[in-house]
Amino acid sequence: MRVDQQRQMKHYLMLSFSLPALVLNGNRIRDQILAELRAGVEAMTARGRPPGLAAVLAGRNPASEIYVRNKIKACESIGLYSEKITPPDTITTEEMLALVAELNAREEIDGILVQLPLPPQVDSKRVLLAVDPAKDVDGFHPMNVGLLVTQRPGLVACTASGILEILKRSNIPISGRRAVIIGRSDIVGKPVAFLLLHENATVTICHSRTAGLAAVAREADILVAAIGRPALVTREFIRPGATVIDVGMNRLETLTDVERIFASMPAKIEEFRQKGSVLVGDCHPADVAECAGAYTPVPGGVGPLTIAMLMANTVKAAKCRTGSSRSA
Ligand code: NAP
Repeated sequence: MRVDQQRQMKHYLMLSFSLPALVLNGNRIRDQILAELRAGVEAMTARGRPPGLAAVLAGRNPASEIYVRNKIKACESIGLYSEKITPPDTITTEEMLALVAELNAREEIDGILVQLPLPPQVDSKRVLLAVDPAKDVDGFHPMNVGLLVTQRPGLVACTASGILEILKRSNIPISGRRAVIIGRSDIVGKPVAFLLLHENATVTICHSRTAGLAAVAREADILVAAIGRPALVTREFIRPGATVIDVGMNRLETLTDVERIFASMPAKIEEFRQKGSVLVGDCHPADVAECAGAYTPVPGGVGPLTIAMLMANTVKAAKCRTGSSRSA
């Protein structure tokens, strides 16, 4: 049975009994994408050189260090060339601009990733604007944003394109459906809104000033939560049977919060006792599992796709730069 049929049936049967929601497993989809990319990378390597990614990690932000480490590991897993550049946290805007200019000019570097946040004295906007749009594998450059908005080929922000991969590869229908996105950031909310619009969804974007947020969200067939507020999306936001994509990655560090949000999940409380913190998304985990027709878990939902799409963008950038996209 297709996912939309399952979901519809769940909606109709809601009053009599509830079917378990379909868990959209991001790790499985990431592995599929990486396996597909690996074959392309091997072919490109045999023809000349592997695609290359440079990751710039300025300063010492422990979360950024983990993100960059995982990105480099993913490069290695599919045979991409990667380089980690770690300027000190005293770096100036001018020095960062010089570093980016050097990477723009290097032939074997196809993708440049500037890990955010940059140290406070650095003008992040100027630095991101300096990245060659053809190497902008994060899809943050205004040139790539413009290409996305006008539905032309370009490099698209990784989390947003990862969300589309999850929906498409899970056969969730998009065309003609109502999509509500909570969050209007440049890196997630806005690009995912345009991608869904281009797939013919009817799209509503919500934010911190949206009146009657829960009622708007409840109209969604596809609800995307990209807010950064732990478990803000509760059962009254979710239309029974809706597909819920939880982008949020929030670390809980107090037992009170963990006990409140994970009251019905003793394993999470135990995990907190052992590790001192646990991750939670923007959706209430028990409510989403109960009300949604399909949903992405946290962790293991959207997160793995962000890295997979960074790899996909690097391969795409390399193909475009070497002109092999026509033959690939
Ligand atoms: P952001 O730039 O802080 O944007 C958050 C958005 O949520 C803003 O548009 C804000 O509205 C809105 N918002 C905040 N509080 C709200 C409320 N009470 N009601 C309604 N809207 C509210 O965050 P982001 O970079 O998009 O990230 C969002 C979340 O996704 C974070 O948890 C982040 O860690 C996570 N994330 C995960 C991945 C991944 O790979 N899994 C990637 C990127 C981000 P205003 O515009 O009105 O302020």
